[in-house]
Amino acid sequence: TVVTPIGSARSAQPDTDRCTVVTAAEGVPLVTGGSVEYANLDYAASAPCLTPVADALAAALPYYASVHRGAGHHSQVSTDAYERARRSVARFLGVRAEPADAVVFVRGTTDALNLLARAVPAGCSVVVFESEHHASLLPWEHPDSRAGSVVRLPLPESPAAAVGAARAALAAAPEGPRLLCVTAASNVTGEIWPVEELVAAAHAEGARVVVDAAQYAPHLPFSLSATGADYVALSAHKLYAPFGSGVLAGRADWLREAAPYLSGGGATRLVTEHDVVWNDLPARHEAGSPNVLGAVALAAACDTLTPRVQELLHIRESALVERLRAGLAAVEGVHELSLWDEDHPRVGILSFVVDGLPADLLAAALSAEYGIGVRDGLFCAHPLTRHLLPRGHGQAVRASLGIGTTQEHVDRLVGAVADLVARGP
Ligand code: PLP
Repeated sequence: TVVTPIGSARSAQPDTDRCTVVTAAEGVPLVTGGSVEYANLDYAASAPCLTPVADALAAALPYYASVHRGAGHHSQVSTDAYERARRSVARFLGVRAEPADAVVFVRGTTDALNLLARAVPAGCSVVVFESEHHASLLPWEHPDSRAGSVVRLPLPESPAAAVGAARAALAAAPEGPRLLCVTAASNVTGEIWPVEELVAAAHAEGARVVVDAAQYAPHLPFSLSATGADYVALSAHKLYAPFGSGVLAGRADWLREAAPYLSGGGATRLVTEHDVVWNDLPARHEAGSPNVLGAVALAAACDTLTPRVQELLHIRESALVERLRAGLAAVEGVHELSLWDEDHPRVGILSFVVDGLPADLLAAALSAEYGIGVRDGLFCAHPLTRHLLPRGHGQAVRASLGIGTTQEHVDRLVGAVADLVARGP
C-alpha cells in the first residue's frame, strides 16, 4: 500500500504539503517528511485526499452516470460502483448483515444525524451530552425532528460519570423508544468516549445508541457489531476523501418505517394521481440523483484504512500528539483543554489557549509566519469549549494530526508558540 495525501491546501507559502506515507518492507506504514513547507495541522476540519481515493475517482470519472434507473453501459457501471461502495462502507463500519442494518449514503455527519432525528419513532426520548458537536447536539431539537423529550446532560466529570448519567437519564425517560447520542472522539479535546460502556448501559435500559464517529473513524477502527452500537454517522471529508458524502448506518427498522428523508425521484417505487408508493431502504432515504463519485471516494478511503493500517497509524499518531502535548505544556502560559484526566486516551486532536495571546491572532501568526495551519474558535461545540476555556479566554486554537503529520510539523508548532510567547503580546 502506498498512502499519499495529495494536494493538501496551500498556505500563504507557495509550496504544498508533500508528505508521503510509504509501506516499509515489513508492512509498517511510515511517514516521510520530504521538504514540507506547509504544516497542515487541521485534519479534524477536513483531511487531505489519499492517493488511492484520487485514483478511484479518476477511474470512475469517465463513466459516472445516474445510477439505478439506466439501462446504458455507464449507468450500469456506476450502479455497480455505487453498490460496491456501499458494501465497502459496510465492511469498514462492521455493519450487521441485512436485513438488520442498512447503509444510507448522505452528505455528511450533520446530514446523517438530521436524517435519524426525522426517522426515530414519533415521541422518541433522546439523551445527549452537552459536550457534543452541534451536529449531534442540535438535530433532535429541530422543528422537523420526531423526538419527544430531549435531555441535554451536563459535562460529566469522568467517563464513569458519563455512563452513570446516561443510564440514569434513560431510566428516567418516558416509556417508549429511547435513544442516546454520543460522539466517539471529541473534536475539541480528542478524548475518546467510553462507547462500549455507554452502549451496555443504554441497552440495559432498552434504549438505542447512535455514535457520531466523524472524528473517531479517521483515526481508529469503529465497528457497529463489535461495539453493539445501533447507528453510526461519519463524513468522507474527514476520512481522507472529498466533501459531499457521508453515511448513516445501523438498525433498518426505524429507518424503514420512517417517511423518506427527502421527497423525490429514487425514493419512490410508484407515483399515481392519487398515491405514492415509497421505496424500501436504502433508496427510501436517498431521493435525488445520488453522489456516486462521493460514494466511490468514501469507499476507497474505507478500503485503504484497514484495521491494521489504522492501528499502525494510531501508534505513530499517538507518539506525535504526546510529543505535541509535552512540548506545549513546557511553554509558559499555554493551557490545554481537557475534560478528563491528562492520560485519558485520545485521538490526534489538541486544543489550547495561550495567556496574553488571543486565539485568532495566534492562529493567524502561526499561518503567516510559520506556515502552520490550525483552527481557532469554539469548534462548533460551544457549550463544551466555553466550559473548558480558562477565565479570560474567549476562544481556543486547535491542532489536529493525521496521516501526513510529521515530527517536524509538531516541533515547528511548539517552537512557534514558544517564539510568540517570548515575543509577548
Ligand atoms: N461531528 C463531529 C464530532 C465533528 O467534528 C463534525 C465536524 O467538524 C461533525 C460532526 C459535522 O461534520 P460535517 O460538517 O461533515 O457534517
